[in-house]
Amino acid sequence: MTSSSTGIGMTSQRTRDRLIKRLRDMGIVNQRVLEAIRQTPRHLFVEEALASRAYEDTALPIGYGQTVSQPYIVALMTQALLAEGPMNTVLEVGGGSGYQTAVLAGLVDEVYSVERIGPLMHLARQRLFSSGYRNIHYKVSDGSWGWPEHAPYDGIMVSAAPVEVPQTLLQQLATGGRMVIPVGAGDRQELLLIAANEEGMTRTHLEHVNFVPLIGGQGRP
Ligand code: SAM
Repeated sequence: MTSSSTGIGMTSQRTRDRLIKRLRDMGIVNQRVLEAIRQTPRHLFVEEALASRAYEDTALPIGYGQTVSQPYIVALMTQALLAEGPMNTVLEVGGGSGYQTAVLAGLVDEVYSVERIGPLMHLARQRLFSSGYRNIHYKVSDGSWGWPEHAPYDGIMVSAAPVEVPQTLLQQLATGGRMVIPVGAGDRQELLLIAANEEGMTRTHLEHVNFVPLIGGQGRP
């Protein structure tokens, strides 16, 4: 690992360990998820001026009115997605800074990441490529329509909130697959786990959350 990926001072291993302890205290128990978060250099996914805050458990601005998700939420969503075991393909909607993408890419075979803001995705792609990730596919597009060419997916993770779950995304979930998605308007959103099985779909409430809106054709009917 290079010194830029291991970090110094406020981005050091000790600072990361403190974050992992906090996530454990908050109920994150999946060892693989905790290890992926420990290994992922979050300070490389925020502006340099904010690097010293990268291992605080807080959302941070990434430009264009968007934020990198709070580590606890990234951990909770990833843990819920992978609770039944490893996955081959995961569709991510709302790639943003690329941080959640990196955590996923350390845990599954292939990540298909869709982001609607071109400059954010180009920056994420550069950061992820230079950090050594080679199992991520990128598309600048309205992710409320998913990425049908590679469907069905074992997992779908959505990092922006539609008012209702887009039908198009449900259709791209494999039987046996799982989707984690925040749903609702304004600050009345709930994080849902949707599991697809032979009989249909089950929905489980995970947490109250506060995501930016999913903007686009299928997000705000
Ligand atoms: N997981 C991201 C990270 O780690 O940086 C956080 C992303 S931020 C909370 C939500 C992202 O969803 C923003 O980058 C926003 O541009 C994107 N977004 C919103 N609506 C979208 C849509 N319809 N399709 C794709 N991306 C969308």
